[in-house]
Amino acid sequence: MKEDLIRLTVFEAAQKLKSREISALELTDAYLAAIDAANPEINAYITVTHEIARTQAAASDRRRGQGEGGALEGVPIAVKDLFCTRGVLTTAASHILEGFVPPYESTVTQNLFDAGCIMLGKTNLDEFAMGSANITSYYGNVKNPWGMKTGRALVPGGSSGGSAAAVAAHLCTAALGTDTGGSIRQPAAFCGLVGFKPTYGRCSRWGIIAFASSLDQAGPITKTVRDAGLLFQVMAGHDPKDSTCSNKALPDVIAAMRDGVRGKRIGIPKEYRMDGMDSEIAALWDKGAALLKEAGAEIVDISLPHTQYALPTYYIIAPAEASSNLARYDGVRYGLRMADVGDGINDLYEKTRAAGFGAEVKRRIMIGTYVLSAGYYDAYYKKAQRVRGKIIDDFRQAFAKVDAILTPTAPSAAFAIGEKMDDPVTMYLNDVFTVPASMAGLPGMALPAGLNKDGLPLGLQLLTDSFREDTLFAVSATLEEALGFQGL
Ligand code: GLN
Repeated sequence: MKEDLIRLTVFEAAQKLKSREISALELTDAYLAAIDAANPEINAYITVTHEIARTQAAASDRRRGQGEGGALEGVPIAVKDLFCTRGVLTTAASHILEGFVPPYESTVTQNLFDAGCIMLGKTNLDEFAMGSANITSYYGNVKNPWGMKTGRALVPGGSSGGSAAAVAAHLCTAALGTDTGGSIRQPAAFCGLVGFKPTYGRCSRWGIIAFASSLDQAGPITKTVRDAGLLFQVMAGHDPKDSTCSNKALPDVIAAMRDGVRGKRIGIPKEYRMDGMDSEIAALWDKGAALLKEAGAEIVDISLPHTQYALPTYYIIAPAEASSNLARYDGVRYGLRMADVGDGINDLYEKTRAAGFGAEVKRRIMIGTYVLSAGYYDAYYKKAQRVRGKIIDDFRQAFAKVDAILTPTAPSAAFAIGEKMDDPVTMYLNDVFTVPASMAGLPGMALPAGLNKDGLPLGLQLLTDSFREDTLFAVSATLEEALGFQGL
């Protein structure tokens, strides 16, 4: 019975809570017990908030008893440890935020709590969300539940690796992630889940620890497209505290799921069929296109000519913004402090930053500082911004012809912990299919599409034009149904 409870989708849990077949406390306790049993090995959570979860659940049951309650009343979720949560340790998986307890709540988590959600804990990630394998966390690696099933130590993807592993292992109904260059979509693909990155500006960034502010966007990792929609409709919306947060009306993405794909045009970008592409991924991509065609869509070959420049451009712009955002971690205001101010302020900065940041974060800060420095700014940063404009233009032209674009989510299935670590560029190549949409601020959905010969999940990605989440959900729901993927 408890096993069944933790396998519920957000939609099912909300229904059973509403009909009072189950209580929020009962459901929360089932998850907490599952987390206590599994987390020591899987390491998906950095912090489990037992007390907060049980208090929120009891309050939710009281509201329900009084005939009140929000849209997701009593639904237990996990929160990537990049969202500031009032009174709860928030680490960004970095040593430099040692002991940091925010005095305020991020807008997205507050929106979810206002809708009745319960927080089970804070999930593991790559340090400051920089990575694709959840191997740079100060709090240790996360294990992919699909690997654990067959005795292999595989990465869950990253940076929202803890969130994806927690959902796949049934340690929450759904989890919050953030996506700067693929950090929701790629771990969702590695763990056989749905990962949804909304249009840049849909969700407030207020209270999310910043990585690259022109790219960062919050979104859900879930078991189904419907669940992604249910969370999105609660998370998103205008917030005066974030000047880049859009005030455009939210579409009813749940209603849009019924729209289907008849008469819709789906683009297949030829530049994504890269040399040496994994043959199973290529076959799955063809299958996805065939299924959409069968469902009534028209498949159109398109070109996004600047695709090959997206990854190198991202790895200039994202580190540039990161080097600026991470300048605030100096040992003075919060987190780790490695020396006394009396030793000299430079000494304090140097010792704290040397001890507090891991190798990948240091690499990004150095690259970012370099590409922004006088003499190199024009050659790197400014040029990258111009290329970003070209990438945006490619998509603009494509969406004049098609309603959505279909691509693979990642170039491989989950790989072994320890692999791809000798050369950072090998790791960066994970983002090759997700980064272009990030550069253009587009919404993207990663769908679990099938298993490879080793029994590991592979994902397909759908993209639409900015603020067209309605179309994205229509196409995603159709493809999800046609694929019929079975999760863990
Ligand atoms: N893997 C990418 C990076 O390392 C994307 C990370 C993210 O989206 N937060 O930058």
